[in-house]
Amino acid sequence: MDLRTYFITINPVGLNGAARQRYVEQVHEHLRWIHRTKSGRILLNCIRRPNFPVEIRPHALVECNAVGGGEPAPAGGGNRGFVTYTPGHFGQHGICTTTDGANRSGRLFDEILFHELVHVFRNATGRWNQAPRLGFAMRQYDDNEEFIAVLCTNIYVSDRTNKIKTGLRAGHRGYGAMSVTDAMRFSLFASSASALPLVKQFCADNPIFTKAIADQLADVEYNPLADFYKAPLICEAFALFGRSNDRRQFRQALSGIGLPTAVIDTMTKLAIP
Ligand SMILES: [Zn+2]
Repeated sequence: MDLRTYFITINPVGLNGAARQRYVEQVHEHLRWIHRTKSGRILLNCIRRPNFPVEIRPHALVECNAVGGGEPAPAGGGNRGFVTYTPGHFGQHGICTTTDGANRSGRLFDEILFHELVHVFRNATGRWNQAPRLGFAMRQYDDNEEFIAVLCTNIYVSDRTNKIKTGLRAGHRGYGAMSVTDAMRFSLFASSASALPLVKQFCADNPIFTKAIADQLADVEYNPLADFYKAPLICEAFALFGRSNDRRQFRQALSGIGLPTAVIDTMTKLAIP
């Protein structure tokens, strides 16, 4: 993977001697892991633009965190993307080790980097917007941008071309695993009435990226973007109906959005077996 193709620079600022070389090699390696996957290539290609170069540099603090976004380019003339990421923090002996079994989802090197690159992508496309405030049932995502980054990284984790991975992450607070219920198809839309408007807005903001992810990863375990593009009415029904177990109410919600009886029968069987 040639970094120049993607206008990405790895800057080992603050490191000396062998540590500099090791930093550049490790970050390049983790970018290669991302680049080997379908979803990773879609993301890198959607970030890629000559007037928005991206710098990856060490994270300034020793903590279980990395940061990604946009900043004024030091040479002037607009903005650039940046990620502060230190691989050593996330390794086996790092402060943020993946050996903590209960709290490791989305915490592998490339998963962390992918998450931060989603933040870069939203800045590169001029769509960065932490509003609106998330509803109570979405509070685990903190804000709109973290919701988008966690959502996309979970699709990256589900991507079958991504061979080494942890698991689906429940939200933005910590690295706990997503519950089996939350991981089910359409479940995101049933979890909160505000999930569907957020996904709709994301797809309106970034149609090229979201459609590519929906089309090219249509059959993976977790892909709410594919569910939204393929079956928007079903998403609508789940948003209205939530997770009740009442068959009659569920059927009413589906007929309320104008679905034919045959579809209602199938969906009811799926949702409330
Ligand atoms: Zn984030």
